[in-house]
Amino acid sequence: MLKWNVGSKIGIGYALALMFVLLIGLISFQGMGQLNSTAEWKTHTHKVLGALKNLISGMQDAETGQRGYLITGDINYLEPYYSAKLSIEADFKTLLLLTKDNSVQQQRLTQLQPLINGPDGKYAELEETIRVRTVEGFEAAQKIVLSDKGKKVMDEIRQRVMVMEEEERHLLKERSKKAENTVENARIATLVSTLIAFISLIAISILSTRNIAHPLKEIAASAERITSGDFNAKVLIKDRGDEVGILARAFNTMMSSVEASNLELNVAMSDARAASEFKSEFLANMSHEIRTPMNGILGMLKLLQHTELNKRQADYAIKAQDATLALLTIINDILDFSKIEAGKMTLEHTPFVFDELMRDLSMMLSANLNEKNIEVLYALDAKMSESFIGDSLRLRQVLLNLAGNAIKFTDQGDVVISSRVVRQNEHSQSIEFSVKDTGTGIPADQLEHIFSGFSQAESSTSRRFGGTGLGLAICKDLIELMGGCLEVESVLGKGSRFFFTLDMEIEKQIGSQVASSVSQESKRVLIVDDNVLVLEVLRSMVEFNGWQAECVKSGEQALELMQKPDACYQVILMDWMMPGIDGLETTRRIRQLKQSNQATPVVIMVTAHGREMLAESSPDEGDLLDGFLVKPITASMLRDSVA
Ligand code: ADP
Repeated sequence: MLKWNVGSKIGIGYALALMFVLLIGLISFQGMGQLNSTAEWKTHTHKVLGALKNLISGMQDAETGQRGYLITGDINYLEPYYSAKLSIEADFKTLLLLTKDNSVQQQRLTQLQPLINGPDGKYAELEETIRVRTVEGFEAAQKIVLSDKGKKVMDEIRQRVMVMEEEERHLLKERSKKAENTVENARIATLVSTLIAFISLIAISILSTRNIAHPLKEIAASAERITSGDFNAKVLIKDRGDEVGILARAFNTMMSSVEASNLELNVAMSDARAASEFKSEFLANMSHEIRTPMNGILGMLKLLQHTELNKRQADYAIKAQDATLALLTIINDILDFSKIEAGKMTLEHTPFVFDELMRDLSMMLSANLNEKNIEVLYALDAKMSESFIGDSLRLRQVLLNLAGNAIKFTDQGDVVISSRVVRQNEHSQSIEFSVKDTGTGIPADQLEHIFSGFSQAESSTSRRFGGTGLGLAICKDLIELMGGCLEVESVLGKGSRFFFTLDMEIEKQIGSQVASSVSQESKRVLIVDDNVLVLEVLRSMVEFNGWQAECVKSGEQALELMQKPDACYQVILMDWMMPGIDGLETTRRIRQLKQSNQATPVVIMVTAHGREMLAESSPDEGDLLDGFLVKPITASMLRDSVA
């Protein structure tokens, strides 16, 4: 059997339709031609009939002229006679011309001619009577007329002309009939052709739908099933040799190869997953195994330091301890990182007090500060709840890491750790934590890589500052586990800001409620600190507690204010380290000023350093100060201290 491809089938269909459309055109053209020639024939017949009529009336005119002359003898009556003679000649010529393709009519004309102007014709008879009238007179002419010879010729002429007219009418009838038949045939042919063209087009559309659209739909459906992972969705197309068959076979082949690759990929993926899990597990186990002896070494070093050592030995012991601690940090990082990678990191969901978290953090950070000339500031939102439910250790780890980095990469200026309530409801607070520094900053092209593990902004970083490049990766993953997202803004040479927002569940059982604190008795509070940011943070906390705040930037300004008669403060929050006279000296002078006055204010020392250091530098601080607050300070710490 002849196998045709889809293209040929459609092509043949269109060619067929086109052929019939052309046929329709041809038939119409032919029909029009027939109608046209019929119209021409009609005109022609009418011309012949007209000429024959003219011929007869010319003969009659000539006869009338002749009779007028015969009766009157007046020459003027011969005028129509002569002009009729001319017109008859012209009509005869016309008739000869018009009937030149009709031999029968030509023959009839040939026979008619001698009857008109032959020697025995009508004109000869008329001329004879005119001549006799002129020469012999009316009676002689009348004799000829009455002889009936002329009448017989005239009847003969009429008879022949009538036959010719009959013939013409008959021809016209026949031609009209033929034309009508042609038109009828053209109509039928046009109708049939239109019908066939229409059927061909319908056949093409059915063919296209059956042969192309349906298989294509089937292929598309299979592709969709394959996309959703069903590799049994082969295209079932019978043995077709055309393009659709080729496409279906190619599709099935492609699918088989995709299926094979998918299988390979699945195997490779599960291998990779197993290998990764094994690696993480191995790392976790190893780090754990290493940590135990490491803690043993640390313990031993601590013990060693309590024995009698000479200066050199003590120095060695401290250095060994530092190195061990650094190693322990790295191992902890690796342990965390591999735990997160293996998906085994779980978060605690226990209540904690935020103040305690911040206090631990500040203690750990002050150890990081060493000799560095930078200030660590805390700007904690007074609206924060006192306690939350969550993983305080992991939150502290993140803040410690970010603030540790900030201190590490900052030589001058300050590091600000802040919290800000961005949204809250009865059960939770959305808090934005941020750690901002005025350090080296991070180059723009490094910012996007900074959160992927084992990456450091500069290759020299590890040599200069140490570290593994894992800290930020761990922070990012931990924050994501807590439902936040770690982000960074940084300007090279100006500093960086790392920030994230967490939805923290409020714990209502522990500690007093923030709201209850606001209803406390009103107080006037004087805040003395050389750092504007600290002043602002303390002011917001004081105001949050429902008290009035006034700020001054130095001990001198504080003393000046206290000398005014209306200086009546219940509480003074005093920074210790200030340029000019320090907090202790200022307090001493305020006490002297107010000795006579019974309403001496409560003075609370606010310091970033431990109380021991203060006691060391000033043995009488116990008498001078009423209270003592170590930064970072929260609103509740302040309230408790004042109370
Ligand atoms: P590590 O500090 O152990 O190297 P991290 O993941 O904590 O690893 O940090 C990765 C790198 O990001 C650091 O090496 C440093 O180049 C850059 N970086 C992190 N924090 C800061 C910062 N506050 N200022 C400047 N660079 C920073």
